[in-house]
Amino acid sequence: MNNVCVKACINGQDTIILYELLHSYAFPYVSRAEWNARPATLTTPLQTPVPYVVIHHSYTPAACYTAEQCRGAMRDMQNFHMDDHGWWDIGYNFGVGSDGAAYEGRGWELLGAHALHFNTVSIGICLIGDWRNEVPPAEQIKTTKALIAAGVEMGYIKPDYKLVGHRQVRATECPGDALFKVIQTWEHYSEHPSSGEDPGSKATSMNTPWILLVIALSRLL
Ligand SMILES: [Zn+2]
Repeated sequence: MNNVCVKACINGQDTIILYELLHSYAFPYVSRAEWNARPATLTTPLQTPVPYVVIHHSYTPAACYTAEQCRGAMRDMQNFHMDDHGWWDIGYNFGVGSDGAAYEGRGWELLGAHALHFNTVSIGICLIGDWRNEVPPAEQIKTTKALIAAGVEMGYIKPDYKLVGHRQVRATECPGDALFKVIQTWEHYSEHPSSGEDPGSKATSMNTPWILLVIALSRLL
């Protein structure tokens, strides 16, 4: 109990403290302090509970199988996102390693930068590794599912949430063909996601009649 309190006091995140005191995660959980995260340059609160979970792969860095490798992978991703993209922090809310541990990114309460038009309505989880041809190890899958379940239990993710792969909301190969096949078998997988923030979903319904009218007129002229 003392360890939990010390860790919680450092994190300063009340809800997670309460959850850890009452339940504790059923999988290894690595806080930002534990992987030596740089402080975010800016933060924005995330409106929760969110209706979506977006699954990513890292492509690079490659899969990590030890605590040391995975902590290094989190630092590499954070450096890339902050230094090359100019983002405020690592983009993902969480990373999950092939070591079976979940790594705190922006966490449950802060807006991520991982899926355009879905950032404000989702928790983004990156399964560290290149999952185009290989599937992640069972432990990595198990922890990802347990992390999502904990998010639901803590009230950060809606119980009827929809789960999607990054490629469904953006032109990208992420989360890789092999992992995408895996997540399609998960209970909350959704084939047709659309966020309230997504202009594509609104544009289709509002603009289609006008496009048809323009085509019809151009044929008459
Ligand atoms: Zn992605």
